[in-house]
Order: sequence, then C-alpha cells, then structure tokens
Amino acid sequence: MRPRFHPRLINGPFDDPGLYIPFLFENRAVLCDLGDIYALSPKDILKISHVFVTHTHMDHFIGFDRLLRLFLGREKQLSVYGPQGFLKNAEGKLAGYAWNLVENYKYRLTLELTEVHSDLLITKTYHCRDKFFAREKTAERAFNGVLREEAGFRVYGVILDHNLPCLGFSIHEDFMSILCERASMLWDLKPAPGCRDSSKPCIARLIRIRILKLKSKVNAKKNNSSSENSPRKLR
Ligand SMILES: [Zn+2]
Repeated sequence: MRPRFHPRLINGPFDDPGLYIPFLFENRAVLCDLGDIYALSPKDILKISHVFVTHTHMDHFIGFDRLLRLFLGREKQLSVYGPQGFLKNAEGKLAGYAWNLVENYKYRLTLELTEVHSDLLITKTYHCRDKFFAREKTAERAFNGVLREEAGFRVYGVILDHNLPCLGFSIHEDFMSILCERASMLWDLKPAPGCRDSSKPCIARLIRIRILKLKSKVNAKKNNSSSENSPRKLR
C-alpha cells in the first residue's frame, strides 16, 4: 500500500529548514518547521492544516508571516505547535501588524496555537474577527508525548535542548486504519450494527473475509483453467 505522507524538503541543505508533508489524494498537508517557505506555491501552502515548529530562531520561524498573509481572509483554521515561549513569540508577531480592517472580512481565519511543555500543552485561540487578540480561555491538557492524533496518523513530540527548549517530531502512519478506510470505501463495507466505537477491528474482519473470498475465487479460476489446458486423456 502506498504511504499517505509524501514529505519533501522545501529548501536546500544550507537554506532555512522546512519539511512539507502533503497527504496522498487529499487536499491537505502538514509542515515541520517554518523557515523561508517562498519556494512553496500558495496552493501548497493553503493545504497546510498543522504546523510543528521546533523553535523560534529566525531561520525556523520567519515563514509565519508568509503563512499568515496567505491564510488571512479565508475561512480556515490553522493549528501551530511550538516549544516553551512559543505563545509569546507568536503573539509578538501578531502584535506587529494593524488589524483595524479585519472586522470587514467575510471569511475569517482562526489560529490555534499550542505551546508544548514537558507535561502540559497550553492552547490559545486567536480569531481574525478579534484582531488576533486571544479572548477565549486558555486550554490546558496533559502532554503524554502525543501532539496530534487522528484516524490514520499520530504526531509525537519530544523536548530537546538547543540552548533553549526545542521540539523534535515524529509522524507515524496507522496503516491498518488507512487500509480499513480505503477498503471500506472501495467495497462499501460498514461496521456491524453492534460495533459502535471501535469500527476498525470490525471493518478489518470484513476485509479479511472479502480477501479470503477473492482468493478462493482466484484459486477456483486457476484450477479450472489448468484442468482445461491439461492434455485430454485418451479413451
Ligand atoms: Zn536554532
């Protein structure tokens, strides 16, 4: 099965870092690090749903402005994760512009920024209509190593030392979930009536049954054709 993620470096080895990860057959991507992203087309940038920033040295974070510029005026939500001190740095960038015209925008961007601490994730939400001033209550949840979890993949984060808190990321695909999703679409498989929360094992069972049926059909065909091709017995 082809992987869902197709990562590529945005720039050369001596330029600002950035790993662009588009999702196969989906109008979606995630981004690791946010340096100079001008090599990405606006179309590719607008596919980004989540950004994972290792730290806020300029070469890793200067792309925030480009990202914001393209998302502004669109009905989108963008989630950005960064290390301790990230909220202050991102708020500093947001505070660097005048927002007196944004209340007239028809399509309004929402930024969801998450600061990663050793045992805590602190999330603040910034609406374009509020001139990117965080009015909603700050949300906190325990951090167990997982930054983002969805059907089909998980993003893990770990805190590293770079003379300041710095994040390392790893993205894991759940092939069984993807297989179930694609096969259930292809064969129109539905979980059994009693199977409410965990449809994955149920669908996986249906897939196994379907594959066994297909195998037995193929074997039956093979047997038929080999018996047709075998030399006829002389009578
Ligand atoms: Zn650095």
